[in-house]
Amino acid sequence: MQDRRDFLKRSTQTAAAAVCGGLLWNALLAQQSAQAAVPLRPPGAKPERDFAATCIKCGQCVVACPYHTLQLARPGEPAVTGTPRFAPREVPCYMCEDVPCTQVCPTGALDKSLPITKAKMGLAVVDPGSCLSWQGLRCEVCFRACPVSGKAITIAPHPRQLSRHAVFVPLVHAEACTGCGVCEKRCPTEVAAIRIVDPALVQGKIGAHYRMEWNAEVPREGAPPSEPSRSIAPPPKAERPPAQQGLDWLNQKGTP
Ligand code: SF4
Ligand code: SF4
Ligand code: SF4
Repeated sequence: MQDRRDFLKRSTQTAAAAVCGGLLWNALLAQQSAQAAVPLRPPGAKPERDFAATCIKCGQCVVACPYHTLQLARPGEPAVTGTPRFAPREVPCYMCEDVPCTQVCPTGALDKSLPITKAKMGLAVVDPGSCLSWQGLRCEVCFRACPVSGKAITIAPHPRQLSRHAVFVPLVHAEACTGCGVCEKRCPTEVAAIRIVDPALVQGKIGAHYRMEWNAEVPREGAPPSEPSRSIAPPPKAERPPAQQGLDWLNQKGTP
């Protein structure tokens, strides 16, 4: 009888352990799959893998940020738990000139020497389907709010179908956008029509085989810096008919 009771007790304990283990495992899997998405990091952060390996989760950057932009990631968020991240729709980075968050980082996970205008926390992307300007309204809130306004965002006319009037829409310029997220914060649509994303998700890459000799500002990938620009020899002059004999000349050429 005692053996039977022990057996039942052990079976119950094993089943309970299996259930708990399964729940924990599922939670771990859910957290890891969420972590696959790249979170927005403070300015000057190393590339994601290096950052996660270098950051010791001390939270000093979070304390140094005067706007409470930075928060330590909680379990289940798309960032390694305890590392600093920010959500622009809650609080964007206001691009402090002296970048206090990077200055206090003790491990080099954040680059102290990076000017804030060179930061690449992410890249702003506009959804034309929900942007008010794309619907024909003169919103332009993101343009006016952008700390790098005129460089990171400009307003450009865009022709409208079946209408002689153009719409004026925001254009983001990746080379100047810091990913601060002020535009995402200020966008008046219910869900922001301009969002900050990982640049790798939206930026393409021009192949090395495309030559844009006409655009001197875009150097050909792999080309040595001192490579002289190649001049293209003009095509040989086509044989032209003498002015006075046009038709006859053609007829003569065509005659065997
Ligand atoms: S630059 Fe300023 S606002 Fe932006 S994260 Fe650092 S301390 Fe915060
Ligand atoms: S603030 Fe939002 S809705 Fe307004 S122009 Fe910018 S992206 Fe469009
Ligand atoms: S994230 Fe938005 S506000 Fe910040 S620099 Fe880029 S376009 Fe401007």
